Amino acid sequence: MPQKYIFVTGGVCSGLGKGIASASMGAILKAMGKSVFVMKFDPYLNVDPGTMNPFQHGEVFVTDDGAETDLDLGHYERFIDVPLSKLSNATTGQIYQELLEKEREGAFLGKTIQIIPHVTDVIRKRIERAADESKADCIIIEIGGTVGDIEGEPYLEAARQFHREKGEGNVLFAHVTLLPYLPVTRELKTKPTQSSVRELQRRGIQPHIVFARADQDIPKDLLKKITLFCDVKEGAVIPNVTTPNIYALPSIFESYGLSRILSKELKFSYIKPKMVVWDKFRKGPQKSIKRRVALVGKYISHGDAYISVHEAIVSAAFHNNVSCVIEDIDSEKIEKNDEREWDRMKACDAIIVPGGFGNRGIEGKILAAQYAREHDIPYLGLCLGMQIATIEFARHVAKLDSATSEEFSTRAKHQVIHIMPEQKHIRKKGGTMRLGAYPCVIKQGTKTARAYKSKRISERHRHRYEFNNAYRKSFESLGMVIAGASPDNHIVEIIELKKHPFFIGVQFHPEFKSRPLRPHPLFDALLKATLKK
Ligand code: GLN
Repeated sequence: MPQKYIFVTGGVCSGLGKGIASASMGAILKAMGKSVFVMKFDPYLNVDPGTMNPFQHGEVFVTDDGAETDLDLGHYERFIDVPLSKLSNATTGQIYQELLEKEREGAFLGKTIQIIPHVTDVIRKRIERAADESKADCIIIEIGGTVGDIEGEPYLEAARQFHREKGEGNVLFAHVTLLPYLPVTRELKTKPTQSSVRELQRRGIQPHIVFARADQDIPKDLLKKITLFCDVKEGAVIPNVTTPNIYALPSIFESYGLSRILSKELKFSYIKPKMVVWDKFRKGPQKSIKRRVALVGKYISHGDAYISVHEAIVSAAFHNNVSCVIEDIDSEKIEKNDEREWDRMKACDAIIVPGGFGNRGIEGKILAAQYAREHDIPYLGLCLGMQIATIEFARHVAKLDSATSEEFSTRAKHQVIHIMPEQKHIRKKGGTMRLGAYPCVIKQGTKTARAYKSKRISERHRHRYEFNNAYRKSFESLGMVIAGASPDNHIVEIIELKKHPFFIGVQFHPEFKSRPLRPHPLFDALLKATLKK
């Protein structure tokens, strides 16, 4: 079978869950026995989202090979469970950078460089490269933004050319749109969807599938109407109704016959997908037990800033049959002694301090770690959360009052967290942290070892600062356990506390490797620790 390509575009507005719809499609293809690779094109000019503010852009997802990518890649890895790579995310910034470097080398001597064909060629070559290197049966390509955005034009044109070259049956277009609800007339409207499909058609693209997003059930006659006006085949308008559990979507989409449509449009022989695992998510867990987990951060007003952490908690809860509420706690309010925020945190069964950068809200996070340590509340510190736990221990157990991280004060006496030696002279900000997968050796007999059930692990990193080894011995003598370190034992990767039911801090981001079908051992252990209370 020749490789098949699925382009996913968005219409009407952003934020419709295009990534989740694409990922669900990938999950169905995988359940049909196909290998799947995913790419996302982001039409902005930043080279990658690594230097963008989480308030604006949400989480930065890190791959094994150290790419700082769009958070949609997290959805792809979770739904399709294939490790993605640098090939999976490209921005307009990257595309232009590649093109302009070639221009400086003289690759185009004498020629005028233009968006068509030169920019579109780079885009097409990126897709070819991903197809060649992944050797996947199906390559899903999500085009970020909304059809009609000026920035997105070169991608749509490249997709049109791709379809023309590979031919019908090898390329499929899926369009994700919105059916807004008008409360006055109490009806869903299809006109914006019709207009956005027309926008696509004007660019020479006819969608094969339309995912119609709505907040309530879509009446059959509306689906018919979209079929007719958007010129798609009967049954190819798939209702994409908001659901509390996104992992139910593959099963929901399949109930509308998505696998049949995919095999018909992409011309491969039909194989009934094995959906049992996904069907489970539609039913949900038994939910006899309720637990609350506090997520203490500073980017809490952006729903997607800690999305992988959220998903890791949800997955662990699901597998432990726990109905879990995640309380987003504002570390700045904790710092300012806001009574309501403190009460919300105190009502929780576990505390997580996620990753982060910069001074703001730091003291609130330290107070949260202190509260967890002193009250035997299960604690999990992720990257910055591990550094915070170290500072808290230094201040209140080792009695080093001024203890902090070099990131927050370059002059403090006790920098128990300090800059990594190889980071010292780096001035450029983009893509220069310690990024991607590194091995870690786990100390036997620790809580961490019990959770992982293996001696050597590999986890993804994104940091510049590390545990200062000068304090290692004294902290160990006071009850801190270095539960994991780099194979050469130089970098402290995991700390835990001896006299505490569950208090673990990790210098990496375990949340990136949690999967709905396979929760991460640390999140699983955290949830289990809340059940022991
Ligand atoms: N700011 C810290 C560092 O750079 C932690 C980074 C993080 O949490 N990802 O080391």
